[in-house]
Amino acid sequence: MFKERYFPSSRLNGWLTAHAIQTEIIGNSELGKPIHAIRLGVGPVKILMWSQMHGNESTTTRGLLIWLEKYLQSPSYHEELSLLIIPQLNPDGADRYTRANGKGIDLNRDALTQSQSEIKTLMRVVEEFQPDYNLNLHDQRTRFTVGDTDKEAALSFLSAAADKSRKITPTRILAMRLINHMVSSLPDDFKMYVGRYDDGFNPNCTGDYFHAKGIPTVLFEAGQLGKDYTRTEVASIIAQCLSNLLEFLSKPIPEQSNEVIFKEYCQIPENKTNSYDELVITEQYQFYVRYIEELVNNQIDTFFEFTSNDKVDSSILNFRQILDYRKATLEEQQLISLRLSKYLENE
Ligand SMILES: [Zn+2]
Repeated sequence: MFKERYFPSSRLNGWLTAHAIQTEIIGNSELGKPIHAIRLGVGPVKILMWSQMHGNESTTTRGLLIWLEKYLQSPSYHEELSLLIIPQLNPDGADRYTRANGKGIDLNRDALTQSQSEIKTLMRVVEEFQPDYNLNLHDQRTRFTVGDTDKEAALSFLSAAADKSRKITPTRILAMRLINHMVSSLPDDFKMYVGRYDDGFNPNCTGDYFHAKGIPTVLFEAGQLGKDYTRTEVASIIAQCLSNLLEFLSKPIPEQSNEVIFKEYCQIPENKTNSYDELVITEQYQFYVRYIEELVNNQIDTFFEFTSNDKVDSSILNFRQILDYRKATLEEQQLISLRLSKYLENE
C-alpha cells in the first residue's frame, strides 16, 4: 500500500489503471486536470464521497483505495447501495502538496461562493446524483488531542452545524448516527484516539452547506497515531470505517431515539489543540514544536513552528517526541542544538 503522504494525481491515475478501474471525468480542476469519479452498485441508497478536497490530505484517499481493492474482490451491497466516489477532488493541490487548489483557494471555504471549478463540479454532481448521504474525507494536523486527555486525536468526526444556532436537526442526527456506528465498531484499543470536531457554523464549509440543504454529511478527519508520520495505520482504520459504514447503510437502520443518538455522539470527546510534535528541553529553554510539511523538489520537507513555554497553558499535553538535552544521546543533542538555533531565530 502507499506509505507516502505525498499522493499526486499521477499516483492515483496509475493505481486506477493498474486495477483496471473505469472512471468518468466529471470536471476539470482550475489548472485543467481531470477530476475522476467511480460509480459502483445499483442500489436505492445513494452515497457520495470525496477525498483530497485539500490536496495534501491523502490519508483518507489511501484508506479509500484499501477499501476499494477489497470491495472489488467481493462486491458486497451491490444491489443495496449506489456509490459515487471522487478520490481526488483537488488534483492541483495534490500535485503541489497544498491544502488549497491551483488558484490558492481553500475549497472547503467555497461551498456558498462556488467560485472554483472543483466546487462547481462537486455541486453539479450532487445536483445530478441526489445523494442520501455524503462522506467528506479529510486529514487533520497533529495539533489535536482527544478532549482533555493526553491522547492524540488519530481520527476525528463531525456532524456539522446546519445554521448559526447549531440546533440539532434531523439531518445532523442522521450524520451522528453514522458516526456513532463507526466509532462503536472500531477496535477497543483505538477508540481512545477518536475525537469530535467543534461544530461552529460556517456556511462556506461543505459539511455545513450540505447540512443546511438537508443532506447528511459526515466529516472524516484522519489524524496521526504516535510517530507514524506516514499515517499508514490510520489509512487502514479509514478503510475499516468505510467498510463498517457501508455495510450498516446497506440494511435498514435500526430505530434509535434522537436523544440516545445525540447523547452517544456527545460522549466522543471534543478535540483540543494540546498536541505537539516535540517538546524540547535544554539547560535554559523549554519550547514546543509543530511540524509544517511542504513539497520541495518533489519531496516533502519539514519546517517548524515554535511555541514558547509561557504561551502554553494547559496541564495535560501530548507530544510525539520529548527531546531533553540532559538525557539525550549525542545524535539527539545535535538535533536539539539545531532546533534551539531555529527557535532563537524565531524569538
Ligand atoms: Zn481538510
